[in-house]
Formats: sequence, structure tokens, C-alpha cells
Amino acid sequence: MTLDDIASIGRDAGTGGYRRFAWTDADMELREWFAGEAAARGMELVEDGNGNQFAWWGSGTDALLIGSHLDSVPDGGAYDGPLGVVSSFAAVDRLRADGLAPSRPVVVGNFADEEGARFGIACAGSQLVTGALSADKALGLKDRDGLTMAEVMTARGRDPRNVGRTDLLDSIGTFVELHVEQGRSLVHSDAAVGVATAIWPHGRWRLDFCGEANHAGATLMQDRHDPMQAYAATVLASRQLATDAGARATFGRLEVEPGGTNAIPSRVRAWLDARAADEGELDRMVDDLVGQARAAADRDGTTVTLTAESVSPAVEFDVPLRDRLASLLDAPVLPTGAGHDAGVLSPYVPTAMLFVRNPTGVSHSPAEFADEADCEAGVDALTAVVRSLA
Ligand SMILES: [Zn+2]
Repeated sequence: MTLDDIASIGRDAGTGGYRRFAWTDADMELREWFAGEAAARGMELVEDGNGNQFAWWGSGTDALLIGSHLDSVPDGGAYDGPLGVVSSFAAVDRLRADGLAPSRPVVVGNFADEEGARFGIACAGSQLVTGALSADKALGLKDRDGLTMAEVMTARGRDPRNVGRTDLLDSIGTFVELHVEQGRSLVHSDAAVGVATAIWPHGRWRLDFCGEANHAGATLMQDRHDPMQAYAATVLASRQLATDAGARATFGRLEVEPGGTNAIPSRVRAWLDARAADEGELDRMVDDLVGQARAAADRDGTTVTLTAESVSPAVEFDVPLRDRLASLLDAPVLPTGAGHDAGVLSPYVPTAMLFVRNPTGVSHSPAEFADEADCEAGVDALTAVVRSLA
């Protein structure tokens, strides 16, 4: 079993990227694939009320959870998420072939809606499990077609009343998520596999720049209240502020109203993704950026409002577990600027992450890649981890 088994699911023929958003046809097909892999191994499949799938080898408490997610960002790569799920099933196969009888249950997981590509909140499935995201808030989230999560789940035969906190954490003793690296640290350290130390604090903010729609030809430049100008100034400011702070700031999504080529916009809605090494640095950068956005808007007689859609604190992974895995695998340790389900579960259960080398460092793009030999090394590492912990 390899990533080839699911390579065609949700792949856009034009871009070659994946569009595997929560509860879409592609996501449903991946769920069926996961259920089939569980059945083929005689593992009991449990789907919780949030759509998270778990394939159990053995039963009881203090289980060792391995796995990741199968959904993608718009035009995502083949590895972010699925590599962890496929490697987990492969590790189970190896251990069984070696005749291992685990001392605790081993569970392969597929967390729902990790990327938040449809409803805007990342790690929705794992955040619902822990209660970090409330059921009410989640169910009311709307996708770009105006459909709520409640409507979408109902259409897929799921009962929205079952969405929310679960007792999963009572039965899980450890979580290890394998993931393709989103950066080039492992290239620099010349290692196929690494162990995560921490996840940077990160968040998503919506900025609404409001002005006045008017004619592109008949309105003098000095008479305009064009919100696009303050938006553009904000994008330019974000590069400087993030560079100065050694942080990251990205505007990757934009909606313009009314959206006419020959009309001054009335509103520009933009989404900021920002990350920094610590929470103080992140807060400072976002505050400074909003200050510059307001100053630019004031100059044009427009306004800007900021809405925090999701903000995740810094995560420091369990130190004894990290040290144990790093010495077991003789692997380097590295931090990451990307969020993960492992980060969400980390405050509740000892959690670790393994990264597999990505030669270009490119992720959230069809160019995302990992060598076959490195993917094998990832399976070797995960197998060794499960053997050691279970
Ligand atoms: Zn991921």
C-alpha cells in the first residue's frame, strides 16, 4: 500500500493539485478508502461525531494513536496529511509481519478537516474532540457557498447533534503524528527523518476594508474612498514587519466587492495568516500591522476592522517523549511554523511528531515532495517508535 492508491482522488486535472475539502466527494472517497484499509486489516473502525476516523488494533485504554489527516488545502500536495496515514497503516503491517503482539492498543487515525480549507478553522476535527472549538461555533461556520457545517454534515448522513467533545482522550495515552516536513531543516541536517520540538503560535485574521463604490472613470483620484489602497499598503507593510520580526505574514485569500474592473471597490475582505516564534512577537506584529492598516485607511477616508478567526498558542511537545524518540531514531530535533492536530492534542496527551525530509521545502502546493527512500525511512522510524512504545 502506498500513496499511489489515493493519488487520483480529488486531484485537479488542470493544476495537478489536490482539492480534498471536508465532506466533499473527494473527502468521502478518502473516508471510504480509510474504512477499507481498516477492514482489510481486521481493525475496528470508529468514527466519532466530528467525522474523525479511528482504526483500532486491539482495544482498551492507554492506546498509542498514530496517523494524521487526509484533507488538503486548495491545490495542496500529495504528502501533507496522507503520508502520515499511509505510513501508519504500513507500520502496522510491518509489525504484524514481524509477529508483534502490542502491549497496548495501536490506533490509526484520520482527523477530519485539518486544513480548514472549507470552513476557515484549521484542525476543526481535533479541536472539537478536545473542546477547544465548541460544537455551536463549528456547526454555524459557513463555506464559500453559504452552507453551514451542520447542513453539510447532515447531507452526508452525519447527525450534527453528535458534534462536540468526545471521550477519545480517555482512551489515548500517546499520540505520534508523522508528517512531511514543511521547510528544509532536514535537508540542512542531512537527515531523512526528524523529531519536532515545538509548533510556532499562529493564527488567521480577517480584515474588512470598507469604502465607497464609484465609477472608475468619472471619479477624481482625490475624491475616492477606495479600500483597495489601504489593503495594498497593508500587504506591503506585512512583508517589512514579518521580515523584521523573523516571523511570517501571508495574504492568500481576497474577496473584492462589487468586483467590477471598471468600479472602485466598496469592500475588500482579506485574510491574514501570521506566525511567529513566540506569542508576544506574534501579537506585536499583528498589532503593528493593524496600526499601519488603520493609518492607511484614515488617509483615504475608509475603514478597516479586524476579526480573529482562529489563533493557536505555541505548542511545546512532550520533552521526555521527544528525547526518547530522538535518541531511539538518532534523529535531529526541529521546530515548525505549521499547525497540526498533534499540536491540538499535545496539551492533553503526551504527543510527538516525526518529520520526513522534503527536498524543496515546498508545501501546500502541487510541488510538495518526498523521496521514496525517505518515505520508507519514515515508515521504518514510525515502526521503530510503535515497537518501542507498544
Ligand atoms: Zn498537515
